[in-house]
Amino acid sequence: MRYQNYINGRWVDSEQHDPNRNPSDLSDLVGEAAIATPALAQEAIAAASAAFGAWSESPVQLRADILARVGHEIVDRKDELGRLLAREEGKTLREAIGEVMRAGQIFKYFAQEALRPHGQLVASVRPGIDVEVTAEPVGVVSIITPWNFPIAIPAWKLAPALAFGNCVVFKPAELVPGSAWALAEILSRSGLPDGVFNMVLGRGTELGPVLTTSPDVAAVSFTGSEATGRRIAQALGGTSTRLQLEMGGKNPLVVLGDADIAVAVDAAVQGAFYSTGQRCTASSRIIVTDDIHDRFTRALREATQRLRVGHALDDATDIGPVADASQLDKDLGYVALGRQEGAVLACGGERLRCASDGFYLAPALFLECESGMRVAQEEIFGPVATVLRARDHDHALELANDTPFGLSAGVCTRSLSAARRFRRQLRAGMVMVNTATAGVDYHVPFGGIRASSYGPHEQGWAAREFFTAGKTSYIRA
Ligand code: ADP
Repeated sequence: MRYQNYINGRWVDSEQHDPNRNPSDLSDLVGEAAIATPALAQEAIAAASAAFGAWSESPVQLRADILARVGHEIVDRKDELGRLLAREEGKTLREAIGEVMRAGQIFKYFAQEALRPHGQLVASVRPGIDVEVTAEPVGVVSIITPWNFPIAIPAWKLAPALAFGNCVVFKPAELVPGSAWALAEILSRSGLPDGVFNMVLGRGTELGPVLTTSPDVAAVSFTGSEATGRRIAQALGGTSTRLQLEMGGKNPLVVLGDADIAVAVDAAVQGAFYSTGQRCTASSRIIVTDDIHDRFTRALREATQRLRVGHALDDATDIGPVADASQLDKDLGYVALGRQEGAVLACGGERLRCASDGFYLAPALFLECESGMRVAQEEIFGPVATVLRARDHDHALELANDTPFGLSAGVCTRSLSAARRFRRQLRAGMVMVNTATAGVDYHVPFGGIRASSYGPHEQGWAAREFFTAGKTSYIRA
């Protein structure tokens, strides 16, 4: 399968292509993807600019119908699209189908959001004048996404951008062009006018600067690494381009002495290792109070060792492979670093040989970590979890907040007052009580604070803030 760019309503090939390999089985070539030039990205921006005037004034019923059609088709084809996603990214088929479902539901949700009234009529202090406050489309939006949620993250940026009357240029991550192409193909048949949705495939380092700094781009929505996010923010310093960055996390999961052990272990295993730990909301910093520490870590280690690592399409698999060679190297590098730093590797951390040649890694659990260790501070983005010991509730809270990040945080406890205190004092954009830090609903706001995020939150009703601009009009009849 050859994945092409989509510009101004047409499929456009490139001279160069990249292979799209299955991380569960390197002999399986999923497809090959066009590598767009910066000039093609410029063309995409020009097409989006030209389409903006008409689309920004399009009837909301038209937008709602289109988004609903897209959402229904995604849901109807969840098994097939999930299979493609699992093949190219490596999460398990179950996880991949869940992600596809979520993408479809997001489109259906924003189909409805397009219809919801979003203005205010205010009496003026002056006679004969009405004041109208409205939310207007912003213009051309560049949407740049990472590889770990190949269809859900594009969906949660594209759907609101289109629902609120913007035109987009979408650049998916290099590793996952197949799911992006499948989504673009659905959008190409949805009834969108030419130029409203465009996609360029290829290198972020080459296309990114064009997509972010072009004067015709009004807004940039990015999810990816902290380093790239900061680079984009720096490049846009001094401009008035709107910017929304969703970057890393080092999400604490606090386990207090009165926690239900089974619930806490489940939250830790799910949060730390599912999706191969490749989630910005992964529970990679598990903080356990002394009174329950040994019981909890023993149970966590047993549960971790029971996880079956294998081919993403195998029904028996709990944890798929790491997404690519460089991420595997990074994970193994952190395992070595954790040992050097003096953390105790309770299990895992070694490369596994499975029936097919893929990037398999045994989930790694580090105990006795100190807060300042790099393994406990930096986002690893793999199946590597760290456990820190806390003296009491105050110390647990202090440790939980002792990273620069602030995306998601969790606490496991049966005490209502402890849950209330941690919910209020954990410094994160999302807080989970007795459930994993990862795994969120599609219809409510998502986002972090501090080094994790910049700009308005995404999803749910929060999405409107970034993808619309306020306008206050004074009207004398
Ligand atoms: P990851 O490690 O998740 O791939 P990156 O931040 O490198 O994180 O990538 C996230 C997205 O950002 C990808 O689509 C990538 O191509 C893109 N990207 C990489 N470099 C840049 C850049 N300089 N400007 C804009 N986007 C970029």
